[in-house]
Amino acid sequence: MNSEKISDSSSLCLACGCCCDGTLIGFVQLGSEELPALRELMEVEEQNGEGFFLHPCDRFCDGCTIYSDRPKQCASFKCGLLKSLEAKETDFDSAVEVIKVVKQKRIAIEEKLMTQPYQLKSDSFYFKMVELKKLLKKDTSESPLTEDLKQLDSLLLKNFGISLD
Ligand code: SF4
Ligand code: SF4
Repeated sequence: MNSEKISDSSSLCLACGCCCDGTLIGFVQLGSEELPALRELMEVEEQNGEGFFLHPCDRFCDGCTIYSDRPKQCASFKCGLLKSLEAKETDFDSAVEVIKVVKQKRIAIEEKLMTQPYQLKSDSFYFKMVELKKLLKKDTSESPLTEDLKQLDSLLLKNFGISLD
């Protein structure tokens, strides 16, 4: 990887943060060997010897506040958009534009959700949208969120390789 790619990739993630803030991912799996050190740095859930934490990540604040000690899965994760940028299938400005559209869609959905009776239990936006999709599949009445959710689902799949199923 050349320095231009590293710089573009880092800058894109800094401008985005959509995995850390729970927009695109609901949790991070942790290796058992990472747990002792990570327990000192963040809230970690443990079940049957396995570790994980739910998004939004409590170490995210305009970027990762434990960057040099972040979990392995965080360090290795690359969404489809980042991979496309690194492969030069998209350019930096177009990738930033996609992120802007996703963030605007999230705001629009959250605003509409406040006016709706749905009881979504998840903390992360991503898992909320997974819940909402299931609810809307069962709901025979037309919801003001149906079209927004369809657009979000298609945006995430096409640009990030992430599904709401
Ligand atoms: S969603 Fe992709 S571009 Fe955004 S911060 Fe995560 S890896 Fe980087
Ligand atoms: S530990 Fe850092 S990189 Fe990992 S999800 Fe939290 S803020 Fe993001």
